Formats: sequence, C-alpha cells, structure tokens
Amino acid sequence: MYEIFIKKILSAQKIAIFMHINPDADCIGSSLAMYKYLINYGKQVDVFLEPGNLIRKNLFVYPNISVINNSKPTKYDLGICLDCATVERMGKNSANIYFDRCQDRIWIDHHIYPYIIEDSIIETTSASTSQILYKIFKTLDASIIDKEIAFCLFGALAADTGVFSFSSTTAETMAIASELISYGIDNNYIVDKIYREKSICEFNLMVESLSKTQFFYDNKMAVITFLTNDFVKTGCDIYSTEGIINNLIEIDEVILAIAIAEERENVYKVSIRSKDPFDSSAYARIFGGGGHKNASGCKFKLPYEKTLETLVKTACNFIKC
Ligand code: 5GP
Ligand code: MN
Repeated sequence: MYEIFIKKILSAQKIAIFMHINPDADCIGSSLAMYKYLINYGKQVDVFLEPGNLIRKNLFVYPNISVINNSKPTKYDLGICLDCATVERMGKNSANIYFDRCQDRIWIDHHIYPYIIEDSIIETTSASTSQILYKIFKTLDASIIDKEIAFCLFGALAADTGVFSFSSTTAETMAIASELISYGIDNNYIVDKIYREKSICEFNLMVESLSKTQFFYDNKMAVITFLTNDFVKTGCDIYSTEGIINNLIEIDEVILAIAIAEERENVYKVSIRSKDPFDSSAYARIFGGGGHKNASGCKFKLPYEKTLETLVKTACNFIKC
C-alpha cells in the first residue's frame, strides 16, 4: 500500500508542499507533519500557502509554522498537495507552482471527488488528511516519526473530528490518536490550543451571529450570517468564524446548518454541516463546492439576499419539506 507515494519520494530530493485557501487545522497540521517527516528523511522541503491567506492565531502553536512561505518557489522534483478538495481550493499561485514547476506530483486528501484525480491517494473514509499521512509515514519509515510530527498529526486529527465526536471518527481514528499520544505529546494542551480556545473577539462574534440565527422548514434548517459589519464591530475577521456553525447543528431538530460569511461585496464563503441522511457534499456540489457527507462548503458570488434564497430553496428538495 502507498507504493505510489514511496516511489515518488524515493526519487525526489527537492519537494514542495501545498495547502488549501482558508487553511484549517488539518491542512496546516498535515503540511507541517509532512514537512518535518521529509526533513527527517533527508529531503529539501518548501511549504506554500496561497498569498493573501491568513493563518488563524490559535494554529501558531504548531511546531515549525514559520517555514510556511519562508522560501521563494524554484523548481521541484515533487509537489505534494494536501487536503485540497478541488484544484481551485489550492489558489492560482499554488496551482501554477504545483503544475508548472514540479516535475512530479502527488495529491493526498480525504474529501469526496466526483471525478478521478491522477497521481493521488484519496481516502474518503479517513477523518482527516493527517490520518492518511500517519499510515503513509508508518509504511515508509516509522522510525523517523518524532514528537513534533505526532503533535501536528494529532492536532489535525482532533480538529477535523471535532475532538473525536463527528461521524467521521472510526476505530482506526481512535487507534491512530492513541498511537500519536504515545509519542509523549500533551494531547489536552493541543486540543485546548488548536480547537477549544477562543479570543474575546471570537466570543463576541459568536454571540453576535448566533443571536441572529434564522430558522427554516420547521427548524430543520438553520442559517447564521457574518457580514463585514460584524467583523468591524467585533474586531474579528472571517478566519474567526470557524466552528461557530457547530452550535447550530447541535440543535436536535436541525439537520442542515449553514454559515454565510461575507468575504467582500457580493462574495460569500458558505459553510455547510448536516446530519444523516442529508448529503451536504452533494448539496454543495450543486453550487460548485464540495467536501464531505456531513461537512462541506462552497462560494457564492451573488448579493446576500439572493445567496440566502438560493440556499434555502435548494435545501427544500433535500429536506423533503
Ligand atoms: P469549512 O466549512 O470548515 O470551511 O469547510 C468544510 C468542508 O467543506 C471542508 O472539508 C472543506 O474542504 C470543504 N469546503 C469548504 N469550502 C469549499 C469550497 O468552496 N469548495 C469545495 N470544493 N469544498 C469546500
Ligand atoms: Mn481535512
């Protein structure tokens, strides 16, 4: 298993790692775990995040975070793309380096793809990209996995599973978490820092947005909205919206939760969470997005009212309202 990765790694010396726009804890943790693993393996490694994308403050506890965008891109023997649900999610600049400056490529992800991606390892049953990476690392050479790698993989796994609570959590997820803890990491500290901790402005943004939650279809659908005004008022930015949507899907009657966040005028980032059997990935694909069965996303380039109306009307077929 994972021969494709092993073959490509063995014949590459200069390697570039790419992540997705609006990077989350899995994306950053997986990239930094891959970085350290390859350094330990004796490779030369650069890590790229699309320019213009910020990293949420709480993720700065990850070891080696300063290597991100620390080098000017050159030519690479191998490009590794991690946790990107689509090519568009890499961002234009990253995609150019990945496709034009890397002689060889590998795409590793756990999202659902409606088409085939060449040179890839895609495991949609893995709760996080980091879960796949741990298995790959063990297969190639377990002896070079160290505490920093375990920190990054565990943080990514804990965050993408809602600290082992989402439906994506399996026996394999828990077994891997247990093995990672045995590297001596402070798992409680990692969960607190990466997943649980909020700043005051994030708390205020949460209060502000939740108090204006809109419900549709007898409370089966709930929508929160973050407008530029809310960011100005609370001193937060769009990166601080992460996780607030979970408060909606935790309501017993809600089977579809949506967060609409204004990126700029008439451009909205839409986050979607659902409960089975609602397939949020299929729902997001209608709007050109994607993701997982219970967590997905897409982008709308329409005025707010039209965005909301489209999301609500389309949900009707899924909810059987
Ligand atoms: P989040 O709501 O946390 O940003 O994203 C939830 C899931 O949906 C993630 O797995 C993410 O990759 C996916 N996702 C979010 N936004 C988009 C998007 O615009 N396009 C696609 N294809 N997937 C997205
Ligand atoms: Mn992920």
